[in-house]
Amino acid sequence: MTDVDLLRTRADLTRLEPLRAAAAPLVLVPTMGALHAGHLALVRRARELGDPVVSIFVNPTQFAAGEDFAAYPRDLERDLALLEPLGVAAVFAPAVDEMYARDGGVMVQPGPAAQGLCGGRRPGHFAGVLTIVLKLLHLIRPEIAIFGRKDAQQCLVIAEMVRDLDVPVRLLDLPTVREPDGLAMSSRNAYLSPAGRRRARCLSDALAAARTALEAGERAPARLAAAMAAALAAADSVEYAEVRRVPDLAVPARAEGRLLLAVAARIEPARLIDNLVVQVDAGGVRETSLLDDREATA
Ligand code: AMP
Repeated sequence: MTDVDLLRTRADLTRLEPLRAAAAPLVLVPTMGALHAGHLALVRRARELGDPVVSIFVNPTQFAAGEDFAAYPRDLERDLALLEPLGVAAVFAPAVDEMYARDGGVMVQPGPAAQGLCGGRRPGHFAGVLTIVLKLLHLIRPEIAIFGRKDAQQCLVIAEMVRDLDVPVRLLDLPTVREPDGLAMSSRNAYLSPAGRRRARCLSDALAAARTALEAGERAPARLAAAMAAALAAADSVEYAEVRRVPDLAVPARAEGRLLLAVAARIEPARLIDNLVVQVDAGGVRETSLLDDREATA
């Protein structure tokens, strides 16, 4: 057991009241658990900004039938032990019934940023994400919520909801934490065999190839996409390799301004994604944030 205050029910959330009265802001880090160094980087930033509350909930409404909801790794004790040294104020880990009392309830319909990429490949996914995120924001009422740039489209779809539905929260997107070979940390990397794990670096290699091409002056989105697709030949199948404009995710005529380089591919049973956000202008190519908050790149 750990000393982290574990909140399991809505009623338990009253234990957040003393934190709400404190001067430091409540900072929410939503996760699905199976925590890794990427999640922990978000929590550390939350600790710098205020009192972190981490939610751990494998959200059934964002998984389609046939996806990995049942197989998704779950280990609450291990997650709590990882969070304990980080000064987490509380962990909210509700049961599915606690969050969804009935089937077929109201869902949040995503805006235009959900078109294409993961939104195109996973129908209903972002409605599930937005619904759970809005519920968590209402229940926990943080002043700040932190998300990972690794799930770039998710960040932009959430930012669109927060803006369009006037949700009173400040959003931050933080950089992707990677394994030494470049693979983005993900709870789903656990699905890979050692051989699959070696091949999985092709996603970050694809982003690096597009970045190298941009640095060499390539500005044609189709040729950048082709460079990414070539690197993804090592995957079992490719879902997408695209260049999009940030923040509206429109397909740009030329690869200039703030861009998202986005890839998704399957390796063994794992569906993996990776993203890189770059600013491309006369000064060259540099990595940047998705959201405009000045803190975002810290
Ligand atoms: P998940 O548990 O996969 O739903 O992720 C919870 C949060 O952690 C999301 O905001 C993710 O974007 C973020 N995240 C996941 N992987 C990484 C990573 N490798 N680096 C930074 N943030 C991440």
